[in-house]
Amino acid sequence: MTESVVQEIPLPEVTLEEVFRAEGADYSKRPPRPSVVEIHNQVLRQDAKHVRPVLIWREFAISGAEEQELFLEKGPKLKSSLLVKVAGRAEKLVLLAMTIGSALDNAVADYNQAGKILESFALDAAGSIFLAKSIMLVIAELEDKYKVAGMSTTFLLGPGHSYWSGLDDVRTIIETLKAEQIGITLTDSNLMIPRKSVAMVMGVGHNLPDFKGKTHCDFCSLQKTCNMNKFAQNCGG
Ligand code: SF4
Repeated sequence: MTESVVQEIPLPEVTLEEVFRAEGADYSKRPPRPSVVEIHNQVLRQDAKHVRPVLIWREFAISGAEEQELFLEKGPKLKSSLLVKVAGRAEKLVLLAMTIGSALDNAVADYNQAGKILESFALDAAGSIFLAKSIMLVIAELEDKYKVAGMSTTFLLGPGHSYWSGLDDVRTIIETLKAEQIGITLTDSNLMIPRKSVAMVMGVGHNLPDFKGKTHCDFCSLQKTCNMNKFAQNCGG
């Protein structure tokens, strides 16, 4: 595969409970107030139309690995000791980026400006779940594709998390994929715009190390406090 592939992803279903979970709200002892439920329902009903999940991805052959770096054939190198541990024996590395678009960021900003802080908070949390569930859909498809070819895949991981130092590789992934095609741009400090975007990688091979049941959250120092870690193969967090 020499060019990046762009795919629009069908909008996943997001429930009220998932949004509450992303907010870190605990309603196990006492249910949320009706007004809180109404605001969240309204955000999910009205503002979901702003969400446009779109993916860009490309696979590269892996040409070698050192302790801290993985080298891609006709591609860049990525610097992460966890990546080397997880995908150092893989034959290919899939680079992918996804965004749910800037309209949701704008809607969150509009709510903020109007002083509707609860709506803004709810929509922001819903955006994280839309992104996480869209990624889960994509990963399930990619896993199936490689399984049919007799290969297995690693869990997803990427820069921007505590186990991968620095954000330079966000730029590497975004520029290698030419992710501006799907509307992702970078600030000078390598933060992605729109905010609800991710840049990640996944190893593919015949003889991968056994990390059965693990996700990148198992290697993240935020695992115990992060509200998104229940959405395993993801990170809107
Ligand atoms: S979802 Fe949370 S716990 Fe998992 S890698 Fe991202 S920040 Fe860490």
